Amino acid sequence: MNRVDYLRISLVDRCNFRCQYCMPDEAELKFLAQTEVLTTEELLHLLQEVLIPVGFTRFRLTGGEPLLHPGVVEIVQAIAELPQVEDLSLTTNGYLLPKLAEKLYAAGLRRINISLDSLIPTTFDQIVGRRGRWQQVWQGIQAAHRVGFDPLKLNVVVIPGVNDQEITDLAALSLDRNWHIRFIEFMPIGNADLFGQRGWIPSEQLRQQIRDRWGLTSGQVQGNGPAEVFQIPGAQGTVGFISQMSECFCDRCNRMRLSADGWLRPCLLNETGQLDLKTSLRAGVPTADLRDRVRELLLLKPEINYKGRDSGTGEAAYVRTMSQIGG
Ligand code: SAM
Ligand code: SF4
Repeated sequence: MNRVDYLRISLVDRCNFRCQYCMPDEAELKFLAQTEVLTTEELLHLLQEVLIPVGFTRFRLTGGEPLLHPGVVEIVQAIAELPQVEDLSLTTNGYLLPKLAEKLYAAGLRRINISLDSLIPTTFDQIVGRRGRWQQVWQGIQAAHRVGFDPLKLNVVVIPGVNDQEITDLAALSLDRNWHIRFIEFMPIGNADLFGQRGWIPSEQLRQQIRDRWGLTSGQVQGNGPAEVFQIPGAQGTVGFISQMSECFCDRCNRMRLSADGWLRPCLLNETGQLDLKTSLRAGVPTADLRDRVRELLLLKPEINYKGRDSGTGEAAYVRTMSQIGG
């Protein structure tokens, strides 16, 4: 059985962007009240007393936009200092990195993923649903590069007719910098209408564009995810492909997700089995009992993994968006 030791922790469900594919402006999302969000103490308590003891050792902080959490630097530092932690990384839209990159690095973070869906500022604005943001995100990426994050990965969600003209331009960022570009197949989660209108492009088509231009060999980069990694010959960085639509990697799934309001969820694609750790913690349930419940969930995970996939379109009934679950 696959070892499940990787936890994606959503620090907040809010965001300063409104990406079309994630939380479009018109979606009327309801955000959590402050009292519903795990406090920093509760989060660290759950990690130390429940989640690390049952076997989680690798963590990614995400959201929503995790850099909006006022305690993000403290949280990074506290997790990085725990002796059992083998890996800590963070996924961000990069907008707040110009002011936070150095502090996060000093707190012990070494690996970062930054979303960058376009190199064209107007296309970028259209995707993120906010005006004039590209420049500051680009500065954030430069700041992360300068302070030494390694690997530094750039996530690209490919939307047909919106940014698919830029595949080779984005891949070219890996040529003379040690940057790792990861192309993600668009999923019908967050904005099923846009998915219905635009569809998605299989990774193999993207790979072919890159192969036609430069050739491609297999590559390697540190990570916990299902990305298939390649390298343009002679490039410093790599190009990776996350193909959750064209390829089912549920049987290799090594992760669970903890939402900002404390739900531990075994599968991105369905809600089966999820545990409300925050309510139990606040109700005074002993941590030994919480550990037992999580252990039971770990045993159930292999059969829960497949429930959200349907006949191949991936159009399961998603009740929460990526930003709410912890993408
Ligand atoms: N706000 C941060 C960011 O954008 O990087 C972290 C949270 S975001 C939900 C995490 C990742 O999920 C991003 O790389 C984003 O592009 C991806 N994502 C969100 N909605 C998606 C969708 N419908 N299909 C594929 N990827 C999606
Ligand atoms: Fe915000 Fe990230 Fe979702 Fe974009 S993908 S709306 S940046 S949480």
